Amino acid sequence: MHQKKKIAVLGATGSIGRSTLDVVRLERERFEVHSLAGGSRIEPLVEAAREFGVKRVAIADAAKHDELARALREAGLGKTEVLAGERAAAELAADPDADMVLHAVVGAAGLRPAFAAAAAGKRLLLANKESVVCGGELLMNAVKMGGADLYPVDSEHSAIFQCLAGAGEEARRGARLILTASGGPFRGRRDLSGITPAMAVKHPKWSMGRKISVDSATLMNKGLEVIEASWLFGFPADRIDVVVHPESIVHSMVEYADGSVIAQLAMPDMKTPIALAMGWPERIDGGTAKLSLAKIGSLTFEEPDREVFPLLDIACRALREGGAATIVLNAADEEAVAAFLDERIGFTDIFRVVEETLEDCAGLGAPRSLEEIFEADRSARRAARLIIERLA
Ligand code: NAD
Ligand code: MG
Repeated sequence: MHQKKKIAVLGATGSIGRSTLDVVRLERERFEVHSLAGGSRIEPLVEAAREFGVKRVAIADAAKHDELARALREAGLGKTEVLAGERAAAELAADPDADMVLHAVVGAAGLRPAFAAAAAGKRLLLANKESVVCGGELLMNAVKMGGADLYPVDSEHSAIFQCLAGAGEEARRGARLILTASGGPFRGRRDLSGITPAMAVKHPKWSMGRKISVDSATLMNKGLEVIEASWLFGFPADRIDVVVHPESIVHSMVEYADGSVIAQLAMPDMKTPIALAMGWPERIDGGTAKLSLAKIGSLTFEEPDREVFPLLDIACRALREGGAATIVLNAADEEAVAAFLDERIGFTDIFRVVEETLEDCAGLGAPRSLEEIFEADRSARRAARLIIERLA
């Protein structure tokens, strides 16, 4: 019998965090939840802490420390250690007792835990794409220097990881990545006026957190994923394509020099990439339904509409531009999406906020440290908020 692998689950109360706990429930012989980190909700953290008997629980909202400690005591978990504050998740990521870190915090708040897990040499199962978009080369270097193993959990990147497995150096150099996109809830629309938050978070194929759901509706999510793929796999922007595939069965592809295209297919369920990252090079059954192609009947593909959804190209431009552009892009998008969800700005205002923030912050140099990433992120947020105020 192998020793159980101990997992720190960051963003445990979210969509990916909950799916991860579902996978662990099926694989209790192999995995154990060592710690949990959440943002501000106490009840689901306590419930999961009780079910999995975890040693440490972290909450980002520092003001909730005492309330969380009390709730854990009342649940009979008086010995569970409580951490609170913006750095708490990073502390769990670096815990010497954890073998793996499943990182599903949302947004640039995920930067610190990603760097912490990298420096501590963890097996890092990374869903938080924003840390790759902002961390870029610095994060990839931290992973290398720390001796960490990074497994992407984003479904497209998990697919590409699998399609590249076994390819030699030359084969990779001659290859092209093809990311699939569902197209989101507004695929085919020419007019995006009058879209409400409730409409934007209702994704046709995936059930996800609110921020990534809005990003999927604007196609910003695909732009962030092009940037993510570029860093994770070392491919330049001009060798990464996007194709819309509304059925969300083909999760991405790699085209090689000989014309062969290797694809990964599965039902759209994040438990597949989560289980892959947990088990690779083994394959574990995380509970995703098996694919029946005959039942699905046909798979369709089309070009993305880059005019109606301009953020895809804007994101690719930021990747080409380099410097701090992808950090600015991400910060502006986070601010704009939050303002849209609060009904302070309209749906298409998100495009304007991102584009104008990039103009206002043009020429910011490439960061040389995590602290410089935060500095660029802060300046971009300040600029974005001014634009939002004007539009609101
Ligand atoms: P979600 O909103 O459902 O969950 C986010 C989690 O992060 C929650 O547990 C929340 O409490 C926690 N959190 C927020 N701020 C925090 C902070 N400062 N410190 C610690 N925890 C904090 O989001 P999600 O859909 O699960 O997505 C999580 C990440 O995974 C995002 O980066 C997203 O882009 C990525 N991702 C999600 C999916 C998906 O299907 N949901 C697919 C691919 C990638
Ligand atoms: Mg994805």
